[in-house]
Amino acid sequence: MKVLMFGDPDNLPSLAGAFQGEEVHAITYEQVNVPVSKLIVVDPAPEGVEWWAHLINGLLDSYDLFVTPFTRDGSDLASRIAARRMWPLLTNVIGLKLGNPLKVEKVIFGGKGKQSFRVELPAVISLYSQAMEPVSGQPGVVERISRPNYSPKAKVLERKSKEAEVDLSKAEVVVAVGRGLKRKEDLEMIRELAQILGGEVACTRPLSADLKWLPEERHVGMTGVRVKPKLYIALGISGQIQHVVGFRDAGTVISVNIDPDAPIFEVSDYGAVADLYEVVPLLIKELKG
Ligand SMILES: Cc1cc2nc3c(=O)[nH]c(=O)nc-3n(C[C@H](O)[C@H](O)[C@H](O)COP(=O)(O)OP(=O)(O)OC[C@H]3O[C@@H](n4cnc5c(N)ncnc54)[C@H](O)[C@@H]3O)c2cc1C
Repeated sequence: MKVLMFGDPDNLPSLAGAFQGEEVHAITYEQVNVPVSKLIVVDPAPEGVEWWAHLINGLLDSYDLFVTPFTRDGSDLASRIAARRMWPLLTNVIGLKLGNPLKVEKVIFGGKGKQSFRVELPAVISLYSQAMEPVSGQPGVVERISRPNYSPKAKVLERKSKEAEVDLSKAEVVVAVGRGLKRKEDLEMIRELAQILGGEVACTRPLSADLKWLPEERHVGMTGVRVKPKLYIALGISGQIQHVVGFRDAGTVISVNIDPDAPIFEVSDYGAVADLYEVVPLLIKELKG
């Protein structure tokens, strides 16, 4: 199987981890240490997804599979390529069994279920890089290509980055809260606990994406931030895989959940089967001395 993948320095090592033993070429915009047969570096980098789609579509004739990370831009690019090529497209992919046909597992029902597919190659997939084990090493060959002439019909006029409130990936202590929290106002006690511990508040996706109680840069997991603090405190979090992959490099994990069977306890060093509304005020009192 000959694979072309698009990614960046953060996700290419994990994407490549899913295709070990295959002939894999990766296309990106800067040098990445990733053990693929060929790394294609486009310099200067194209501006915008349509640009990448045009460039990559021109290279795909000899490939069986095109892979992107399941990010906003990655999925956008995957669909543009699938439409241009008329290749089948599978998004939200969390598992693969290599071969032709390719066996693919994707998440459905908001993460509560999985669906398996058999897909004839050539095809396009967008893959959760966080679900794959990263690999490191040097690329076999590095080829530098320059941006070809292309004038997309839709042009980027301006880009403004939003000032992020916090960079959770650098926090040494993270106090994360999930749907066990009943009201937005109760975030105050979580903030107080985080502040006493010199840490940052984080959350599960429902609190940021659905309830909008916290900004997206504070949600940890597959579609959020990956953190590696010395201490991760999980309060009222069930421990679904999409959240857990976001803190798998944490030092010590402590969790509090009223449900003794909550999966979060399987990935915790210390767990309390308790109500966070009792534990958090007690902790604050103790720590304040
Ligand atoms: C494509 C996709 C991507 C996703 N990406 C992410 C991601 O990046 N990050 C992420 O977090 N989620 C992600 N999710 C959602 C994920 O599947 C879970 O739905 C989510 O993590 C659950 O959040 P939760 O633990 O806060 O809520 P729940 O699963 O509802 O768990 C709440 C927990 O709180 C406990 N609880 C209730 N009351 C109390 C109390 N008083 N004291 C203590 N415990 C209490 C309950 O026992 C329960 O275990 C994704 C889903 C999909 C489909």
